[in-house]
Amino acid sequence: MAMVPATYFDGRSTHATRVNAWRDEDVLRWRSADDLQEWSAPWTAVEPSARVTGIPFTLRLRDGAHLQIDHDALPADWFPRHHLIERMADWLERRWMAALAGIVVVVVSLFGMFEYGLPWAADRIATHMPASVEHAMGKQSLAALEGRMLMPTSLPPDRQSHLQSVFWHFVNGIHGAPDVRLRFYQAKAIGANAFALPGGTIVFTDDLAKAVPDDAAFIAVIAHELGHQAHHHMLRQVLRSSGVLIVAGMLMGDVTSMGGVAAGIPMFLIDSHYSRHFEEDADRFALDALAQQNIDPMAFVHAMEALERAHPELQGEELRYASSHPLTGERIARATEASTRFRAAHASDGSHASH
Ligand SMILES: [Zn+2]
Repeated sequence: MAMVPATYFDGRSTHATRVNAWRDEDVLRWRSADDLQEWSAPWTAVEPSARVTGIPFTLRLRDGAHLQIDHDALPADWFPRHHLIERMADWLERRWMAALAGIVVVVVSLFGMFEYGLPWAADRIATHMPASVEHAMGKQSLAALEGRMLMPTSLPPDRQSHLQSVFWHFVNGIHGAPDVRLRFYQAKAIGANAFALPGGTIVFTDDLAKAVPDDAAFIAVIAHELGHQAHHHMLRQVLRSSGVLIVAGMLMGDVTSMGGVAAGIPMFLIDSHYSRHFEEDADRFALDALAQQNIDPMAFVHAMEALERAHPELQGEELRYASSHPLTGERIARATEASTRFRAAHASDGSHASH
């Protein structure tokens, strides 16, 4: 019979007694190392602890008494684990590396959920949202902005109607004529700026309308905003920052979370800006749309320069198009390249750009 070294606590004092334990049919017996004392307990009255590496294996006895045994010393047939799950759990519990790996997996999953899962879900919701819901959301956020951030325009009516007609001429020339509309506002808090709300309302501030040097530069800004709109950027960005609960709610079809998202739009306009990736997508859309309608993409550079002049406070290493549009030299460089290609194409086919 196997003698197992163990430590005995009688449950009445903290005194530890070195003992040797063994199994005798249906009885657990243990004897002090000096052979002076011997104890026993029916096997059915012994309650084994879970096996966790680093914590001694404990056999609980009656009246608070217990025996502690080193894991490695415990005979495999004393408390065999019959159930597969139990054996696997036991295997896992006994291995720190597995425990650590488990922690790593959980941390990586959580990180992955926030870093990739949330943007993925936000993008899915934004691009699959019914147009009616997106419209309602845009209306709701516009109503929240009007009278606060956005005040009635002070542009002369003929200037407004001129820009509206330039806008419609351009929009109707885009393949599939997007469902959009243009609204002018006076907006001291955000200065010269433009943004596309969910549902297709493009807000253009008086300051920006005054800053653009010509119709082509005005259209370049519009084209950029149409790019944001085509890619549902504002909805995606606001959803991304609206948190796990709202995104999860919307993923489950809970449209009441929409109010929370609409409320995030003014916050976004004041505090945040689009990711560089979104800006690049909007720029690409704009440069293509301009060239397709025979407008030299250099208009985009002129628009950016006008924005720089309108926001002298933002001239730093990363110039920003108000708060929502990071403006960098790279963007100007890309627009300049697009212009060079445009001019080369027009020089070779003999036609002349009219803008
Ligand atoms: Zn932008």
